[in-house]
Formats: sequence, C-alpha cells, structure tokens
Amino acid sequence: MQIITEQQVADFLDPELAFFAVQDVFASMESGAWNFPVVREALGYQNALYGFKSGFDPASGALGLKAGGYWPNNASRDLANHQSTIFLFDPDTGQCKALLAGNTITALRTAAASAVSIDRLAIKEPSTLGLVGTGHQSVFQLEAALRVRSFDEIVIWNRSHRDLTKHRKVAEFYGVSLREADLEVVVRSAQVIITITSCFEQLFPDEWVGPGTHVAAMGTDTKGKQELDPRLTQRALRFTDEIVQSKTIGEFQHLTTDVDITPIGAVIAGTAKGRTHDDQVTVFDGTGVGLQDLACAQAVVKAMGI
Ligand code: NAD
Repeated sequence: MQIITEQQVADFLDPELAFFAVQDVFASMESGAWNFPVVREALGYQNALYGFKSGFDPASGALGLKAGGYWPNNASRDLANHQSTIFLFDPDTGQCKALLAGNTITALRTAAASAVSIDRLAIKEPSTLGLVGTGHQSVFQLEAALRVRSFDEIVIWNRSHRDLTKHRKVAEFYGVSLREADLEVVVRSAQVIITITSCFEQLFPDEWVGPGTHVAAMGTDTKGKQELDPRLTQRALRFTDEIVQSKTIGEFQHLTTDVDITPIGAVIAGTAKGRTHDDQVTVFDGTGVGLQDLACAQAVVKAMGI
C-alpha cells in the first residue's frame, strides 16, 4: 500500500487535472457510478463534524472512501479547518492500494465542481465574478473559475476582514482586477457568483440576483447549513452533483416543494439541457460527493505511475 502525502498530491494534482477528473466522474454517475450513503456526524467535541464519503465507479475502477470532516477551531492552530484522508481500494481484490492525504484533493475537487458548473451553465461572456467567503477553499474556487471564463473583474465579500494576498496573487496571474465590496454590490454586479461559507442562514435576498446569473453554491454540505434564499433556488434552474445529497445535506434541503433538479452529469453526458437562455438564473448546488475525491485520488495515483 502506498502512502501519499499532501506535498505529493500538490505536486501531481493541479486545477486542470482535477477539472477533467471531476467532469468525467460526474458524467459516469449517469452511467453506473454511484456514491454510497454519506455518514456525517456532529462529534460534540471541538465543535467538529466528522464522517465518511464513499463510492464506486465501475468504468474507472475507482473504489474507496474519504474519512474526515470540519474542525472549526483549527484556524487558530494554523491548520485548515477541513481535514481528511482518502483510501483507494483495488476493486478486484478489496486490498487497499493507496492512502492519500485528502486536504488538497478536497479543495481542488470542490473547486473543480463549481468550475464544471460555471463552464456548463454560466453565460459565455460574464464580466464580473463574485466571490462570497474568503476562507481556505475560496482561493481554489477563484482559480478554478478563472480557468473556465474570462472575467474583467473579481468582486469579493467576507463577513470579517481576511488577508487576501493569495486571492490577489491568483487574480494577478490571470490578469483580472480584484476589489472588495459590500455583499449587495458583489451580488448585484456579478454574473457568476460563488458562495463558499459555513453559513447556516441565507446570505442575501433573492432580489439582488440579476437575470442571467449563475450561482455556484458550494458551502452547504451538512444538514442545517444554508447560503441561498429559497426563493432564489425556487425560481432558478436547479442543478447539483447528486440529487439525494442536495435534498438532504445540500442547499435544496431548504425547498419545501417538490421541484425539478438536474444532475450536472446529465448535462455533461448530453442527456439533459443546461441553460437555454441568457436571461435564466442557474443555481448549482455543490454538495461534494465521494466519487469526486476518488476520481482525483485516482488521477494522482495514475500521474505518479502507481
Ligand atoms: P473556512 O472555515 O476556512 O472559511 C469559512 C468561511 O465562511 C469564511 O469566509 C467565513 O467568514 C464564512 N462564514 C462563516 N459563517 C458565516 C456566516 N454566518 N455568514 C457569512 N459568512 C460566514 O472554511 P472553508 O474550508 O473555506 O470551507 C467553506 C465552506 O465550504 C464550509 O462550510 C465547508 O464545509 C464547505 N465545503 C464544501 C465542500 C463541498 O464539496 N461542497 C467541500 C469543502 C468545503
């Protein structure tokens, strides 16, 4: 069994490789790949959420699990709040092939998911990218989004002051200007909005979101969490990584009526439509599925020649 460190993952996995791994596995979920029920528990210790995400993709042979969760007090210890470890198993024998540090994979696969949604669902020429939340994941989100669309500017909001040095570096690399603004300005001016917070209530009212906007809601991955106004998710065209998760631990748990939700994999596979008009508002509820982790872990293992 190979043990692969965070540094090795960072050396072999980049936003592009993660993008294609996640895009492919979302499509595979339309033809036989499946995620097993998620276990996610509040430990009642350190305010932590801990659990397992797992799945199997018969096409690629990716079988395994990610164990880990969210420790909100880690930031004060100079550690990322998310901590996870991924196990890959040989689907022919059940033997453990590799154990990978999972923090970089989590960040890159989550950013890849919203980038896939932006690539498939956002209008072709958005001018402004709005980023809501500037925690650990947000820099990865920013870079992944800038890879799939050319923006004129990035407008950022966070509820408290945070160092944006890393965000500015990414923006500079892609030649896009970046400014901080009030939340209302961010939401009203952006045609693509990424929300990546640990919020438990809606961040902004539906009325602020203009026609043609694509919202990638990436923060809600647990029962009770919420970023979007249900009136927004009610009126938008709704997409997700996995319908069951979106209704149980994702943003669509807050919808009280039965509504149509399209798996993004069906759009990728060409069996469902995405946006059909530039005025439509689209919402992608990225809940984070185990197969994203396994697909990226497998990409690392393959790139390392293991
Ligand atoms: P982090 O702790 O580094 O940052 C949290 C961010 O949320 C900060 O910007 C903070 O200001 C903001 N925030 C917290 N409470 C808020 C509130 N009430 N109102 C407004 N903003 C608030 O966390 P992170 O690692 O960047 O992760 C962010 C979120 O993304 C977490 O909720 C995490 O669980 C989720 N996440 C989702 C996936 C997925 O696949 N969908 C994957 C990884 C992380």
